[in-house]
Amino acid sequence: MKVSVVVPCYNEEFVIAETNSQLNSVLSSCFEDYEIVYVNDGSKDGTKALLLAFRDKFPNIKSIHFSRNFGHQPAVSAGIKNASGDYIVIIDADLQDPPSLIPEMVKKAQEENANVVYAVRKTRLGESWFKKITAKYYYRLINSMSETQLPLDTGDFRLIDRKVADVFNKIEERQKYIRGIITWIGFKQVPIEYDREERFAGETHYPLSKMIQFAMRGLLYFSKKPLTLATNLGLTLVALSVLFFIAQFVKWIFYPETFEIGWMSIFGSIIFFGGIQMLSIGVLGAYIGNIFDEIKNRPEYIIDEIN
Ligand code: UDP
Ligand code: MG
Repeated sequence: MKVSVVVPCYNEEFVIAETNSQLNSVLSSCFEDYEIVYVNDGSKDGTKALLLAFRDKFPNIKSIHFSRNFGHQPAVSAGIKNASGDYIVIIDADLQDPPSLIPEMVKKAQEENANVVYAVRKTRLGESWFKKITAKYYYRLINSMSETQLPLDTGDFRLIDRKVADVFNKIEERQKYIRGIITWIGFKQVPIEYDREERFAGETHYPLSKMIQFAMRGLLYFSKKPLTLATNLGLTLVALSVLFFIAQFVKWIFYPETFEIGWMSIFGSIIFFGGIQMLSIGVLGAYIGNIFDEIKNRPEYIIDEIN
């Protein structure tokens, strides 16, 4: 039985040596056969040099270097594709996900005959209240709109077995929302709890703009409800406006003395309907943008070299 650990890294020169030594000590003491697949996502610092240097000391290391920064999700995809283990564990490079949980995840997968073991955060240290609150409500929002129910308080820290990995590798979606896709793949998926640590060193590479982009991808790729919402809203408003005009007409016929031509109501409704239209067009635009990305058929990532 071989265990692969996939580690996406972007500018992690301050943490990668510590991560590497922790991973190697945990893995070598628990498993006979293992590999660590580092995916260097176009780092601009010393990450690449460090990864190459590790190879002399640690035989079980593979590193993949992207031609530029493609993002965390493509890095994880590349790692899964290039991992050969019977079990593959996806873990962050910054030690927020404890390497010591890996043997427990493997044990759980074996004992319960599970295909996926996803790590659920009991607590989250060192993260802003803003991130915690938005994350909490975001996943509840997605679940209320999507047919795929994502486990709550869960990131990409999880174990998948060969069967799930083979299916995952065949999925051709280019902008992968990995936690959604793995949940969607199915088979037997079980949780394991852990306390999320603070980042060991350095700072987050997920600023607000990337977080919003990532959140939008999850919503747009896993729910078509926003489209239905716009249609329903539009239909309701059309019905309401028809009723409104009938009422005005009745008033004009039977109570002509109270009928007045009010420019305020016209002005108000123009803005109102204009707003609704913009909103609907915006939702359509977001989906069309994704269709556009998918049909372009660009690869999800480009590998510079594999060592
Ligand atoms: N990461 C990556 N590419 C990116 C951004 C992040 O490979 O463009 C990696 C990063 O090195 C880390 C993991 O993804 O291993 C999670 O990133 P980070 O810790 O910055 O995010 P946070 O934990 O703050 O959400
Ligand atoms: Mg982190």
